Amino acid sequence: MVPCPDDASNYAPLQVQLQETHKALDTQLQLLQESLEDDPLACSEGREMLTRTWDMRQTHSEEKWENARPNLLESMLSAEWTLDQSCDHCHTKRAVIRCRDCLPKHLFCSDCDLAVHRNYVLHIRDSVVEGFYKALPPTCRIVQDGSGAHEISEKACLLPIASPHNLCNCDTQDIAINAGRAIILVEINGRYDLSLPLVTCKSCLKTWTPGLKDLQSNGYWPGNVDFQTVYSTDVFHTFEEFKVSAPGLSRQAFVKMLVDRTSNFGRAGRISGDSFQRSFLEWTYCRHEKEKLLAVDHFSCPACMEDIAAISVDGNRKMYRFNRTKGADESGYFDGAFFSKDKEVAEFVEGIRSRIRPESGRGVCGKSQWKAARETAKKSGSKVDEEGVEDAVCRHGILFKALNMFRGEIYAYPLFLKKGGFFWP
Ligand SMILES: [Zn+2]
Ligand SMILES: [Zn+2]
Ligand SMILES: [Zn+2]
Ligand SMILES: [Zn+2]
Repeated sequence: MVPCPDDASNYAPLQVQLQETHKALDTQLQLLQESLEDDPLACSEGREMLTRTWDMRQTHSEEKWENARPNLLESMLSAEWTLDQSCDHCHTKRAVIRCRDCLPKHLFCSDCDLAVHRNYVLHIRDSVVEGFYKALPPTCRIVQDGSGAHEISEKACLLPIASPHNLCNCDTQDIAINAGRAIILVEINGRYDLSLPLVTCKSCLKTWTPGLKDLQSNGYWPGNVDFQTVYSTDVFHTFEEFKVSAPGLSRQAFVKMLVDRTSNFGRAGRISGDSFQRSFLEWTYCRHEKEKLLAVDHFSCPACMEDIAAISVDGNRKMYRFNRTKGADESGYFDGAFFSKDKEVAEFVEGIRSRIRPESGRGVCGKSQWKAARETAKKSGSKVDEEGVEDAVCRHGILFKALNMFRGEIYAYPLFLKKGGFFWP
């Protein structure tokens, strides 16, 4: 209740209350002042408070790393030390191979290595017999000669692939699996020189070796139609993810990374960038066709499907292409899927021009002038084929449709995207 101003007896308690509030405020301000003046590192509370700030947390982390550095170096050096240890599998013979992909049982004698890694040829193994770890290709094994010295011998490695359960009706004892034709496998750890398995029945002489369909159903993709080289589809997925997160990453850089990994793991051989690119594009094309059958649509926005509020259309003139890089007259893999067909765009632009005489100068809308919406634009140079791209995007950043610009940004281009029925029915 508000006291009556004429009633002096009501003022006294109000003044006391105000004085108390001021006193409490002063005390709080004093405390705050003191806390700012105090050395924050003098007490654990102060330290805790300050470590909450970003730079202090950074400094704290820096100090911890600096203190740990000598230990880290020492541990790194001692990790390179190869002890004389027994095999983790038979526990009797001396370990000659280390395979980190087989952790926790990572040490192998020669026989156990052969037995286990017959089926795991893609494991990355190191030899330990020379007193240090040395990367060993899957086609090499370590054997002991008569004098007990260790030496490296070659062995055939089969491409990991599921073989048929019932090759024939003969006894399973009659089935032999041998190395067939040589094949190169490229996966995320680089290149492997392997052989295709050749399954033979010794009784009825029926044979089986993987065909294209078998390779594809086991996660491989042919590098060429005769599949002398196969890529794991996983490496294509990785490349695609890299290209989405870092569009500037070149195919050469990715292939170089694969070549480096090949040699780092003790293997050798080149990887053809052109073959990789071609195979990758064929894979993306087939996946696109599959998605079409499944009615997967990447170019529609679930939020905008019912009622499109706004569409932005803009051109990017940095995405040009020189005449000389046009290549042969082969059709694109995704012709018309996202980029409109050049012929249809050209016909539309010509159709507009035949009906309306274009006026030069900037496009006008009310009192505003628009450079990007002019009615005519000249080609900028004879060396350039496509001058850029123009695309339509909704407010959620979903791309709808695009076209190749063969001249500057003219109004007919967004009109094509609109009238083409791709959006705004
Ligand atoms: Zn063993
Ligand atoms: Zn292993
Ligand atoms: Zn048989
Ligand atoms: Zn949208």
